Amino acid sequence: MKRLLRQTILLTLTIAALVTSAFAAKQPNIVFIFSDDHAPHAIGAYNGWLKGVNPTPNIDKLAGEGMLFQNSFCTNSICGPSRAVILTGKHSHLNGFMSNGNKFNGDQQTFPKLLQKVGYQTAMIGKWHLSSDPQGFDYWDVLPGQGDYYNPRLISAKGPRQVPGYCTDIVTDLALDWLKNRDKDKPFMLMCQHKAPHRCWMPPLRHLTLYDDIEIPESPTLFDDWKDNASPARYQEMEIDRHLHLVGDCFGPVPAGFNIDDAKTDRSGFKNLARMTPEQRTAWDAAFGPKNAAMLKADLKGKDLIRWKYNRYIRNYLRCVKGVDESVGTVQKFLKDNGLDENTIVIYSSDQGFYLGDHGWYDKRWMYEESFKMPLIVKWPGVTKPGSVNTDLVQNLDYGETFLDVAGADIPGDMQGKSLVPLLKGKTPGDWRKSLYYHYYEYPSVHQVAAHFGIRTQRYKLIRFYQFDEWEFYDLENDPDELRNSYSDPACADVISTMKKDLDELRAHYKDNSDVSVRPDLQKKFRPQKS
Ligand code: CA
Repeated sequence: MKRLLRQTILLTLTIAALVTSAFAAKQPNIVFIFSDDHAPHAIGAYNGWLKGVNPTPNIDKLAGEGMLFQNSFCTNSICGPSRAVILTGKHSHLNGFMSNGNKFNGDQQTFPKLLQKVGYQTAMIGKWHLSSDPQGFDYWDVLPGQGDYYNPRLISAKGPRQVPGYCTDIVTDLALDWLKNRDKDKPFMLMCQHKAPHRCWMPPLRHLTLYDDIEIPESPTLFDDWKDNASPARYQEMEIDRHLHLVGDCFGPVPAGFNIDDAKTDRSGFKNLARMTPEQRTAWDAAFGPKNAAMLKADLKGKDLIRWKYNRYIRNYLRCVKGVDESVGTVQKFLKDNGLDENTIVIYSSDQGFYLGDHGWYDKRWMYEESFKMPLIVKWPGVTKPGSVNTDLVQNLDYGETFLDVAGADIPGDMQGKSLVPLLKGKTPGDWRKSLYYHYYEYPSVHQVAAHFGIRTQRYKLIRFYQFDEWEFYDLENDPDELRNSYSDPACADVISTMKKDLDELRAHYKDNSDVSVRPDLQKKFRPQKS
């Protein structure tokens, strides 16, 4: 009898082990390639006004092999907060990382920790930007803060070091090294996160003159005057005209006696130039020197000067993008060469969109389309239909839940997003969300974008700049560039009234109890007073 019992237990254990290993074999690997400030309209596959430049052939190829999400958005358009939302599947007010400069509480629940529990090995390489040390990763090797473009410092569990070379290439190499040396008996989740194309837009040496011989189109809204907007759009500090620095941001001609510390600009470009080796610096100066001399000679003014700055900015931005695109190609090739391509999901995304001269701006932060949107392209071999396009409303809030679902792990009830797995299978549930919630907090701060929250449906967008007690409303179907704020249009009163109720419901649903009171002190300080 005892023997029979022992045999029965043994058989049960064997079956359990077989089932587990069969399940594990099915757990797909996940490669999450994530860049910084890469706007969807700077990706060919998104079919925007830069498509003709052919900026991203490798990312476009990924889209051709997988699914492109046309309506993919962030919850708070800024670097650190977007990353914290992805890790936790919770809005900023709940994960505690509401503004850049906060410190992420790494002790909280994150999707990489939960993936480890179901047998995944996890790695985080590149831009982290959450201040605290990464947790939930078997291996991590990250850029401190914003990271450097040339000869960057990196920090791993072993401590800090400096690595010679160009940041995008280094992050790619470290990611491939980790893939080569991983435990090959376990499924993996790799986060390969680039600094590029974040400000100060320093391209790799091999691309310093890329696009020199072609004309780059300009945004149809480059000379927007924000006449219909609520006041915040007119009081920001992110204009190509008045705020993009000719030297500090554009690496333009340096006036005699110029001291970067006296200039009202980001200093990272100058710090990065100082990090270059003499050989790197020589190549840099050879590429930009003659063009700067020609610019000085032309003595540009007004719109011509704005156009020159726009051109320097957009070319360097797209050259940085080119480096990221090459990384996507390199990773894809590695997966194929190593027989990993059939069971690995490859995702390309970026922490939010960006203004590429749109509305006259650079930077992000607003709930307007260019910075609210995120690229999201997913290739899941055998699951996503090649070349498919999804138009459902999705957010970075959904990524963690999706990865857990893919791995066969339970999705904790306190995560606020939804798994995208049904969408990836081409079967959007009938009760999929009809509206998105957004909340940006950082004001007063760099670029002076007022705090705001809002709701977006497939067709409409309602934004509240609560500190200044102002609203904006857009009909995206008739006004995709958001040039006509229709908040005061009587014809829109009914839909605005409904959306206000929906916005209240979203705030309650996502438990956003943060302070959104009107701030007369800010009104007094930052707006001219009527006498
Ligand atoms: Ca960013």
